[in-house]
Amino acid sequence: MNKLIAGNWKMNCDRVSAQVLVADVVKGDIPGNVDVCFCPPFVYISDVVGDDFPKNIFFGGQDCSYYGENGAYTGDVSASMLKDLGCEYVILGHSERRQYHVESNNIISKKVEHAIKAGLKVIVCVGETEKERQEGLQNPVVIMQLKESIPEGVGGENLVIAYEPVWAIGTGKTATAQDVQEMHGVIRRYVQEKLDKPDLVRILYGGSVKPENAAELLQIENVDGALVGGASLKVDQFLAIIAAAK
Ligand code: PEP
Repeated sequence: MNKLIAGNWKMNCDRVSAQVLVADVVKGDIPGNVDVCFCPPFVYISDVVGDDFPKNIFFGGQDCSYYGENGAYTGDVSASMLKDLGCEYVILGHSERRQYHVESNNIISKKVEHAIKAGLKVIVCVGETEKERQEGLQNPVVIMQLKESIPEGVGGENLVIAYEPVWAIGTGKTATAQDVQEMHGVIRRYVQEKLDKPDLVRILYGGSVKPENAAELLQIENVDGALVGGASLKVDQFLAIIAAAK
């Protein structure tokens, strides 16, 4: 199973810089055994998707609509629209969506259902807040998120889980190797016990991943890749993280 390095651009770039960023990364030295996924803002997806990329280059959305079918949902973008644009993946339940758009596990679960039905692979984000970790609640919090955000029957290569401790996102703070190993072990056990085709489910780490810490994080047991925010906007940094996943 290839490791997956997914870049979450969040609400960044303009049309030209989006095209340049993808072109420059793809021109770089990308190992054939690492899957790379770019997740630009919706409006730039069709500017960056192309037919002539290597087979391990993918595109993804950063969210999709809670409502499955086309209809009167102003401002929404459906999973099938993402698929139509050439996306293979969609990030769901990112902590910024949970925080700023009040997305609950139940809402995320519905989105997962629609995305899988539309033929996308989902990257479902889970992770505890700083307060929850200080109180020692990280394991039950994450297990509850997994239980409520991932509908029954979902699994295999269609499912990617991203463990992103909220306090490590965009802060420069990274979880220690021991914290990451423990949590990925907890998630792997949940996947083995509860989900379909568990050996094909990848578990990513996210939270201030950068070239300096990527190699250490990516060699931890049960870390099958990384979800990268800030560093995915810098060609050299993103390529260095990709190289560390080889
Ligand atoms: C993210 O947005 O998912 C993320 C992990 O951001 P950063 O790498 O900037 O912490």
